[in-house]
Amino acid sequence: MKDIILITGASRGIGAQIALLASQKGYRVALNYLRNSEAANAVVRKITDSGGEAIALQADVGQSDSVKKMFQTLDQTWGVPHVLVNNAGLLTSFRVEDVNEDNIDEIFRANVYSAYFCSREAILRMSTKKGGSGGVIVNISSVASRLGGLGGGSAYAATKGAIDSFNLALAKELGSEGIRVNAIRPGLIRTTIHEAQGGLAHIEQVAKTVVPLGRMGVPEEVAQVVMWLASDAASYVHGTTIDVAGGR
Ligand code: NAP
Repeated sequence: MKDIILITGASRGIGAQIALLASQKGYRVALNYLRNSEAANAVVRKITDSGGEAIALQADVGQSDSVKKMFQTLDQTWGVPHVLVNNAGLLTSFRVEDVNEDNIDEIFRANVYSAYFCSREAILRMSTKKGGSGGVIVNISSVASRLGGLGGGSAYAATKGAIDSFNLALAKELGSEGIRVNAIRPGLIRTTIHEAQGGLAHIEQVAKTVVPLGRMGVPEEVAQVVMWLASDAASYVHGTTIDVAGGR
């Protein structure tokens, strides 16, 4: 039976590319999305048309009950995931003097609470101390955690700083329970997330000057590292954070 991978936020961008690559590597792919069912179903079709297995699971991963339901649906469809990729995320831009309960809550829910809620459900099923068979968790952070983000990006940077710390602490909690935990910090990757910060054309120009490799990355360059971390080739890699950022 093929291993199951659950990727949050996989209707587009980096998550969609992880889904496609995971299918090529032989996983059954459960891909989560928030609103964009058309895009999520298109990724599912691309996988099934080439002989793979995929399902789309709608859930707001920033909401605890929604995450519980998503895992229950996966239990009933295929079973326990072997790999969880906490990828879903949101980039909003506001200066600190413009913070309010809504804009800070929205980004922390999408980027931080999501990792807690999804990891909780995964641990309850994967942990060898709870009768599970172990597994792998990959957290998607950002170089913003150590660079402070682009203009208006303090909240985004803070959420990713939280993910870096969460990753370390989670690795300590789970090392003896058969679950390997690691994070990736992507740099400027070509996806629609940059609409909040002036759009892709603008970020392409920024990348030429601030990225030592002189260009933005593409989602597949992140997906390749996710799949390596998920594989047995990375069996002694635990609690670490890998930058995929062109030297930035
Ligand atoms: P993206 O193209 O904007 O895609 C975001 C994905 O997350 C979509 O599938 C979206 O679903 C989903 N999503 C957002 N909020 C969600 C929620 N509350 N519940 C469930 N799904 C949710 O983003 P991306 O660029 O691929 O980014 C993926 C991850 O990489 C994020 O964590 C981001 O912070 C991180 N990252 C990206 C870059 C970059 O340059 N692109 C750099 C560093 C880190 P819908 O389609 O349904 O809305």
